[in-house]
Amino acid sequence: MGYNSENYRRIRGEYETKYKRAHEDADRRRAQLHEAVPGVREIDASLGRVGLEIMRAIVAGGEATAKQVDEIRRRNQELQKKRAALLREHGYPEDYSDVRYECPVCSDSGYVDGKMCACMKKQLILAGCESSGMGHLMRTQSFDNFSLDYYRQNAAEQAEMDRNVSLAYRYANGFEAGSSGNLLLMGGTGLGKTHLCSAMARVIIERGYDVYYTGAQGMISDFERERFGNSASYGGGEEIGRYFDCDLLIIDDLGTEVTNQFTVACLFNIINTRLSSGRSTIINTNLTPSELQSRYTDRIVSRLLGEYRMLRFVGIDVRKQKLSQNT
Ligand SMILES: [Zn+2]
Repeated sequence: MGYNSENYRRIRGEYETKYKRAHEDADRRRAQLHEAVPGVREIDASLGRVGLEIMRAIVAGGEATAKQVDEIRRRNQELQKKRAALLREHGYPEDYSDVRYECPVCSDSGYVDGKMCACMKKQLILAGCESSGMGHLMRTQSFDNFSLDYYRQNAAEQAEMDRNVSLAYRYANGFEAGSSGNLLLMGGTGLGKTHLCSAMARVIIERGYDVYYTGAQGMISDFERERFGNSASYGGGEEIGRYFDCDLLIIDDLGTEVTNQFTVACLFNIINTRLSSGRSTIINTNLTPSELQSRYTDRIVSRLLGEYRMLRFVGIDVRKQKLSQNT
Protein backbone atom coordinates (compact mmCIF):
# COMPACT_ATOMS: atom_id res chain seq x y z
CA MET A 1 0.00 0.00 0.00
CA GLY A 2 1.49 3.29 -1.01
CA TYR A 3 -1.01 6.07 -0.63
CA ASN A 4 0.65 9.22 -1.85
CA SER A 5 2.63 10.30 1.23
CA GLU A 6 2.05 14.02 0.74
CA ASN A 7 -1.72 13.45 0.58
CA TYR A 8 -1.52 11.21 3.63
CA ARG A 9 0.31 13.84 5.68
CA ARG A 10 -2.13 16.54 4.62
CA ILE A 11 -5.22 14.44 5.35
CA ARG A 12 -3.88 13.30 8.75
CA GLY A 13 -3.44 17.00 9.57
CA GLU A 14 -7.00 17.73 8.46
CA TYR A 15 -8.29 14.98 10.76
CA GLU A 16 -6.39 16.39 13.71
CA THR A 17 -7.89 19.82 13.02
CA LYS A 18 -11.36 18.36 12.59
CA TYR A 19 -11.10 16.45 15.88
CA LYS A 20 -9.86 19.51 17.76
CA ARG A 21 -12.58 21.70 16.29
CA ALA A 22 -15.32 19.21 17.25
CA HIS A 23 -14.13 19.34 20.87
CA GLU A 24 -13.79 23.12 20.91
CA ASP A 25 -17.29 23.51 19.49
CA ALA A 26 -18.68 21.17 22.17
CA ASP A 27 -16.86 23.21 24.87
CA ARG A 28 -18.42 26.37 23.50
CA ARG A 29 -21.91 24.89 23.60
CA ARG A 30 -21.32 23.66 27.14
CA ALA A 31 -20.23 27.14 28.27
CA GLN A 32 -23.34 28.53 26.62
CA LEU A 33 -25.51 26.11 28.61
CA HIS A 34 -23.75 27.09 31.82
CA GLU A 35 -24.78 30.70 31.19
CA ALA A 36 -28.32 29.95 30.02
CA VAL A 37 -29.54 27.09 32.20
CA PRO A 38 -29.21 27.49 35.99
CA GLY A 39 -27.90 24.38 37.72
CA VAL A 40 -26.13 22.80 34.72
CA ARG A 41 -22.73 24.20 35.67
CA GLU A 42 -22.99 22.53 39.10
CA ILE A 43 -24.18 19.25 37.60
CA ASP A 44 -21.27 19.26 35.12
CA ALA A 45 -18.83 19.87 38.00
CA SER A 46 -20.36 16.92 39.92
CA LEU A 47 -20.23 14.74 36.81
CA GLY A 48 -16.53 15.57 36.52
CA ARG A 49 -15.93 14.50 40.11
CA VAL A 50 -17.95 11.30 39.65
CA GLY A 51 -15.84 10.43 36.62
CA LEU A 52 -12.69 10.82 38.70
CA GLU A 53 -14.15 8.70 41.53
CA ILE A 54 -14.88 5.86 39.11
CA MET A 55 -11.32 5.96 37.82
CA ARG A 56 -9.87 5.99 41.34
CA ALA A 57 -12.06 3.09 42.44
CA ILE A 58 -11.01 1.04 39.42
CA VAL A 59 -7.32 1.80 39.95
CA ALA A 60 -7.57 0.92 43.67
CA GLY A 61 -9.05 -2.49 42.82
CA GLY A 62 -10.01 -4.90 45.60
CA GLU A 63 -13.26 -6.62 46.51
CA ALA A 64 -15.22 -3.49 47.34
CA THR A 65 -14.48 -2.06 43.91
CA ALA A 66 -17.34 -3.61 41.92
CA LYS A 67 -19.94 -2.50 44.45
CA GLN A 68 -18.40 0.93 44.74
CA VAL A 69 -18.27 1.38 40.98
CA ASP A 70 -21.92 0.37 40.67
CA GLU A 71 -22.86 2.93 43.27
CA ILE A 72 -20.91 5.71 41.56
CA ARG A 73 -22.40 4.73 38.22
CA ARG A 74 -25.89 5.01 39.70
CA ARG A 75 -25.11 8.55 40.91
CA ASN A 76 -23.74 9.35 37.51
CA GLN A 77 -26.96 8.23 35.81
CA GLU A 78 -29.05 10.30 38.18
CA LEU A 79 -27.01 13.40 37.47
CA GLN A 80 -27.33 12.75 33.71
CA LYS A 81 -31.09 12.41 34.01
CA LYS A 82 -31.36 15.62 36.01
CA ARG A 83 -29.22 17.44 33.46
CA ALA A 84 -31.30 16.17 30.53
CA ALA A 85 -34.51 17.28 32.23
CA LEU A 86 -33.12 20.75 32.89
CA LEU A 87 -32.03 21.10 29.26
CA ARG A 88 -35.44 19.99 27.96
CA GLU A 89 -37.14 22.46 30.26
CA HIS A 90 -35.11 25.29 28.73
CA GLY A 91 -35.73 24.17 25.17
CA TYR A 92 -32.31 22.54 24.46
CA PRO A 93 -31.87 19.03 23.07
CA GLU A 94 -30.37 16.61 25.62
CA ASP A 95 -27.24 16.09 23.56
CA TYR A 96 -26.70 19.80 22.97
CA SER A 97 -23.15 19.87 24.33
CA ASP A 98 -22.07 16.42 23.10
CA VAL A 99 -19.09 16.33 20.76
CA ARG A 100 -20.39 16.18 17.19
CA TYR A 101 -17.97 14.27 15.00
CA GLU A 102 -18.21 14.27 11.23
CA CYS A 103 -17.62 10.51 11.36
CA PRO A 104 -19.12 8.85 14.45
CA VAL A 105 -17.42 5.56 13.52
CA CYS A 106 -13.86 6.79 14.13
CA SER A 107 -14.66 9.97 16.11
CA ASP A 108 -12.72 11.88 13.44
CA SER A 109 -9.49 10.11 14.32
CA GLY A 110 -9.33 8.33 10.94
CA TYR A 111 -8.72 4.96 12.62
CA VAL A 112 -10.83 2.25 14.26
CA ASP A 113 -9.06 -0.51 16.20
CA GLY A 114 -5.80 0.37 14.53
CA LYS A 115 -7.30 0.11 11.04
CA MET A 116 -7.92 3.03 8.70
CA CYS A 117 -11.56 4.11 8.79
CA ALA A 118 -13.54 4.03 5.53
CA CYS A 119 -14.01 7.80 5.73
CA MET A 120 -10.25 8.42 5.63
CA LYS A 121 -9.72 5.89 2.86
CA LYS A 122 -12.29 7.74 0.79
CA GLN A 123 -10.48 11.04 1.36
CA LEU A 124 -7.18 9.50 0.33
CA ILE A 125 -8.69 8.05 -2.83
CA LEU A 126 -10.23 11.38 -3.81
CA ALA A 127 -6.95 13.15 -3.14
CA GLY A 128 -5.09 10.42 -5.04
CA CYS A 129 -7.30 10.95 -8.08
CA GLU A 130 -6.65 14.68 -8.02
CA SER A 131 -2.92 14.47 -7.43
CA SER A 132 -2.55 11.72 -10.03
CA GLY A 133 -2.98 14.40 -12.67
CA MET A 134 -5.94 12.61 -14.24
CA GLY A 135 -8.76 13.50 -11.87
CA HIS A 136 -10.66 15.26 -14.66
CA LEU A 137 -10.39 12.19 -16.91
CA MET A 138 -11.32 9.70 -14.22
CA ARG A 139 -14.62 11.39 -13.60
CA THR A 140 -15.80 10.40 -17.07
CA GLN A 141 -13.63 7.50 -18.21
CA SER A 142 -14.07 4.16 -16.48
CA PHE A 143 -14.19 0.46 -17.39
CA ASP A 144 -17.99 0.69 -17.21
CA ASN A 145 -18.28 3.15 -20.05
CA PHE A 146 -15.53 1.82 -22.32
CA SER A 147 -17.64 0.78 -25.27
CA LEU A 148 -16.52 -1.85 -27.75
CA ASP A 149 -19.38 -0.85 -30.08
CA TYR A 150 -17.09 1.39 -32.06
CA TYR A 151 -14.93 -1.56 -33.01
CA ARG A 152 -17.77 -3.66 -34.41
CA GLN A 153 -16.96 -3.20 -38.13
CA ASN A 154 -14.19 -5.75 -37.96
CA ALA A 155 -14.41 -8.96 -35.93
CA ALA A 156 -10.64 -9.35 -35.63
CA GLU A 157 -10.24 -5.77 -34.42
CA GLN A 158 -13.05 -6.17 -31.95
CA ALA A 159 -11.49 -9.35 -30.59
CA GLU A 160 -8.16 -7.58 -30.18
CA MET A 161 -9.77 -4.64 -28.36
CA ASP A 162 -11.72 -7.07 -26.22
CA ARG A 163 -8.41 -8.69 -25.21
CA ASN A 164 -6.92 -5.27 -24.41
CA VAL A 165 -9.81 -4.32 -22.16
CA SER A 166 -9.72 -7.67 -20.30
CA LEU A 167 -5.99 -7.42 -19.85
CA ALA A 168 -6.22 -3.84 -18.58
CA TYR A 169 -9.01 -4.86 -16.20
CA ARG A 170 -6.96 -7.74 -14.81
CA TYR A 171 -3.85 -5.58 -14.56
CA ALA A 172 -5.69 -2.91 -12.56
CA ASN A 173 -7.54 -5.29 -10.26
CA GLY A 174 -4.48 -7.41 -9.58
CA PHE A 175 -2.01 -4.53 -9.39
CA GLU A 176 0.74 -4.89 -6.82
CA ALA A 177 3.51 -2.37 -6.33
CA GLY A 178 6.81 -3.83 -7.47
CA SER A 179 5.54 -6.88 -9.32
CA SER A 180 2.92 -5.96 -11.89
CA GLY A 181 5.23 -5.17 -14.77
CA ASN A 182 4.75 -2.57 -17.48
CA LEU A 183 2.38 -1.92 -20.37
CA LEU A 184 2.97 -0.29 -23.74
CA LEU A 185 -0.27 0.84 -25.38
CA MET A 186 0.27 1.42 -29.10
CA GLY A 187 -2.09 2.68 -31.76
CA GLY A 188 -3.49 5.76 -33.49
CA THR A 189 -5.31 8.61 -31.77
CA GLY A 190 -8.90 8.22 -30.67
CA LEU A 191 -8.78 4.47 -30.10
CA GLY A 192 -9.31 4.60 -26.35
CA LYS A 193 -5.76 4.35 -24.97
CA THR A 194 -6.18 7.29 -22.59
CA HIS A 195 -9.66 6.14 -21.61
CA LEU A 196 -8.34 2.71 -20.67
CA CYS A 197 -5.45 4.30 -18.75
CA SER A 198 -7.72 6.46 -16.64
CA ALA A 199 -9.97 3.46 -15.98
CA MET A 200 -6.94 1.49 -14.75
CA ALA A 201 -5.62 4.44 -12.74
CA ARG A 202 -8.95 4.86 -10.95
CA VAL A 203 -9.06 1.20 -9.89
CA ILE A 204 -5.42 1.17 -8.82
CA ILE A 205 -5.81 4.37 -6.75
CA GLU A 206 -8.95 2.91 -5.14
CA ARG A 207 -6.87 -0.10 -4.21
CA GLY A 208 -4.54 2.19 -2.30
CA TYR A 209 -1.61 2.84 -4.61
CA ASP A 210 0.10 6.05 -5.64
CA VAL A 211 -0.47 6.69 -9.34
CA TYR A 212 0.96 9.57 -11.32
CA TYR A 213 -0.17 10.47 -14.81
CA THR A 214 1.73 12.78 -17.12
CA GLY A 215 1.90 13.80 -20.73
CA ALA A 216 5.34 13.10 -22.25
CA GLN A 217 5.93 16.79 -23.02
CA GLY A 218 4.88 17.92 -19.53
CA MET A 219 7.27 15.42 -17.98
CA ILE A 220 10.17 16.61 -20.12
CA SER A 221 9.33 20.24 -19.24
CA ASP A 222 9.53 19.36 -15.54
CA PHE A 223 13.00 17.89 -16.04
CA GLU A 224 14.07 20.92 -18.06
CA ARG A 225 12.96 23.26 -15.30
CA GLU A 226 14.76 21.08 -12.79
CA ARG A 227 17.95 21.37 -14.82
CA PHE A 228 17.80 24.96 -16.03
CA GLY A 229 15.45 26.68 -13.62
CA ASN A 230 16.61 28.35 -10.44
CA SER A 231 15.66 26.65 -7.23
CA ALA A 232 14.02 29.78 -5.75
CA SER A 233 11.21 29.72 -8.28
CA TYR A 234 11.06 25.98 -8.58
CA GLY A 235 10.51 23.27 -6.00
CA GLY A 236 13.88 21.57 -6.50
CA GLY A 237 13.93 17.83 -6.98
CA GLU A 238 10.66 17.21 -5.20
CA GLU A 239 8.50 17.45 -8.29
CA ILE A 240 10.56 15.15 -10.47
CA GLY A 241 10.92 12.78 -7.52
CA ARG A 242 7.39 11.59 -8.16
CA TYR A 243 8.37 10.28 -11.59
CA PHE A 244 10.68 7.82 -9.87
CA ASP A 245 8.83 7.10 -6.60
CA CYS A 246 5.17 6.57 -7.48
CA ASP A 247 3.86 3.00 -7.59
CA LEU A 248 2.58 3.45 -11.14
CA LEU A 249 3.67 6.09 -13.63
CA ILE A 250 1.50 6.63 -16.71
CA ILE A 251 3.17 8.48 -19.56
CA ASP A 252 0.67 9.62 -22.15
CA ASP A 253 1.45 10.43 -25.78
CA LEU A 254 5.07 9.40 -25.93
CA GLY A 255 6.44 10.79 -29.20
CA THR A 256 4.71 14.17 -29.01
CA GLU A 257 7.58 15.67 -27.00
CA VAL A 258 10.44 17.56 -28.60
CA THR A 259 13.20 15.05 -29.19
CA ASN A 260 16.80 15.94 -28.50
CA GLN A 261 19.72 14.50 -26.60
CA PHE A 262 18.46 15.86 -23.29
CA THR A 263 14.90 14.57 -23.63
CA VAL A 264 16.09 11.13 -24.75
CA ALA A 265 18.44 10.98 -21.77
CA CYS A 266 15.57 11.92 -19.42
CA LEU A 267 13.32 9.30 -20.87
CA PHE A 268 15.98 6.63 -20.56
CA ASN A 269 16.67 7.65 -16.99
CA ILE A 270 13.00 7.30 -16.00
CA ILE A 271 12.36 4.06 -17.87
CA ASN A 272 15.57 2.45 -16.69
CA THR A 273 15.40 3.59 -13.06
CA ARG A 274 11.81 2.41 -12.73
CA LEU A 275 12.66 -0.93 -14.32
CA SER A 276 15.57 -1.54 -11.97
CA SER A 277 13.53 -0.63 -8.91
CA GLY A 278 10.65 -2.83 -10.09
CA ARG A 279 8.20 0.08 -10.27
CA SER A 280 5.51 -0.20 -12.92
CA THR A 281 5.07 2.16 -15.86
CA ILE A 282 2.40 2.39 -18.52
CA ILE A 283 3.26 4.21 -21.75
CA ASN A 284 0.81 5.33 -24.44
CA THR A 285 2.08 6.13 -27.88
CA ASN A 286 0.81 6.75 -31.38
CA LEU A 287 4.18 5.70 -32.73
CA THR A 288 4.66 2.33 -34.42
CA PRO A 289 7.53 0.05 -33.32
CA SER A 290 9.60 1.18 -36.31
CA GLU A 291 8.89 4.85 -35.56
CA LEU A 292 9.98 4.21 -31.97
CA GLN A 293 13.17 2.71 -33.32
CA SER A 294 13.99 5.68 -35.52
CA ARG A 295 13.18 8.22 -32.84
CA TYR A 296 14.82 6.78 -29.72
CA THR A 297 18.10 5.11 -28.91
CA ASP A 298 18.45 1.34 -29.03
CA ARG A 299 18.71 1.10 -25.28
CA ILE A 300 15.30 2.77 -24.86
CA VAL A 301 13.62 0.74 -27.59
CA SER A 302 15.07 -2.55 -26.38
CA ARG A 303 13.66 -1.89 -22.91
CA LEU A 304 10.26 -0.86 -24.23
CA LEU A 305 9.91 -3.82 -26.55
CA GLY A 306 11.58 -6.27 -24.18
CA GLU A 307 10.25 -5.32 -20.76
CA TYR A 308 6.80 -3.93 -21.56
CA ARG A 309 3.75 -5.94 -22.46
CA MET A 310 2.44 -4.54 -25.73
CA LEU A 311 -1.26 -3.80 -26.29
CA ARG A 312 -2.07 -2.92 -29.88
CA PHE A 313 -5.05 -0.58 -30.33
CA VAL A 314 -6.83 -0.99 -33.64
CA GLY A 315 -9.89 0.38 -35.43
CA ILE A 316 -11.10 3.77 -36.57
CA ASP A 317 -10.84 6.92 -34.44
CA VAL A 318 -13.66 6.61 -31.90
CA ARG A 319 -13.99 10.37 -31.48
CA LYS A 320 -14.56 10.82 -35.22
CA GLN A 321 -17.17 8.04 -35.18
CA LYS A 322 -18.98 9.69 -32.25
CA LEU A 323 -18.92 13.04 -34.08
CA SER A 324 -20.32 11.61 -37.31
CA GLN A 325 -23.10 9.89 -35.35
CA ASN A 326 -24.07 13.14 -33.69
CA THR A 327 -24.32 15.11 -36.93
ZN1 LIG B 1 -14.27 7.64 10.08
